[in-house]
Amino acid sequence: MEIVFLGTGGGRWVTITQRLKTGGFRIHAGRKIHIDPGPGALVSMKEARISPVDTDALIVTHCHPDHYNDAEILLEAMTQGMTKVKGVLAASETVLFGRDEVGPAISRYHRSKLAAVETLTPGKGFQVDEVQVAAIPTRHSDPTAVGLRFSTGEGVITYTSDTEYYEGLSDHYKGSRAIIFNVIRPAGERIPWHLCVDDVIKLVREAGPELAVLNHFGMKMVERRKAEALRVELETGVKTIAAMDGMVLTFAGGGVAYESIRGGGKTFKQAQLNF
Ligand SMILES: [Zn+2]
Repeated sequence: MEIVFLGTGGGRWVTITQRLKTGGFRIHAGRKIHIDPGPGALVSMKEARISPVDTDALIVTHCHPDHYNDAEILLEAMTQGMTKVKGVLAASETVLFGRDEVGPAISRYHRSKLAAVETLTPGKGFQVDEVQVAAIPTRHSDPTAVGLRFSTGEGVITYTSDTEYYEGLSDHYKGSRAIIFNVIRPAGERIPWHLCVDDVIKLVREAGPELAVLNHFGMKMVERRKAEALRVELETGVKTIAAMDGMVLTFAGGGVAYESIRGGGKTFKQAQLNF
């Protein structure tokens, strides 16, 4: 199984300035699942030499543009230019139908060629062949936003999406091989509806994953993400890395993953992670 981080930026200003890329990430576990394709997802896929046509499911966790922007064009790719009935779209209620001033983000036309459309609500799940996907609750400014739990042949991978910390949140992350945290702010510099690194430390201690991956960085995290990942690791004893644009995590058996950076069809760096 591979997790491909097309973009590791998040929040308004990193997205507007493209200080980091914002194309979301993909899980390749037999079937190929794209999660939260923000602006530039298609461009980053071209750089990583991943064909957007080669997508089996698209998941959009909530209706903010750093998560949904490239969704419609990716649906056009998934359905081979809207010529085939194919693929699964799973998204929050706001993304699919809109609520109050928010959304929808995907037109009825773009929903019309999908083999299945799933509305993500906490506790509800669906299957993409051998990968079981379940929605996890969040506390975010889009009240229908969800996190995700992927049960794969290589173990459980969870993704917080955008949420703030609350008592009990970590229960949904127990048993994870890896947790991907959307962490906009460093240290204890908390803003409403989002995680800061001190929140991540609490969640890692409570949920006890094998590997923690920091992702979806706001402006204040760009320069500090590696140091903050090291701090999480030192304070929790859990292997922690900061995601990089183009990073691929390849999971092998027994607590080993390989971290590589890909771009322009090349692999620039490869390191073995033991955890
Ligand atoms: Zn958001």
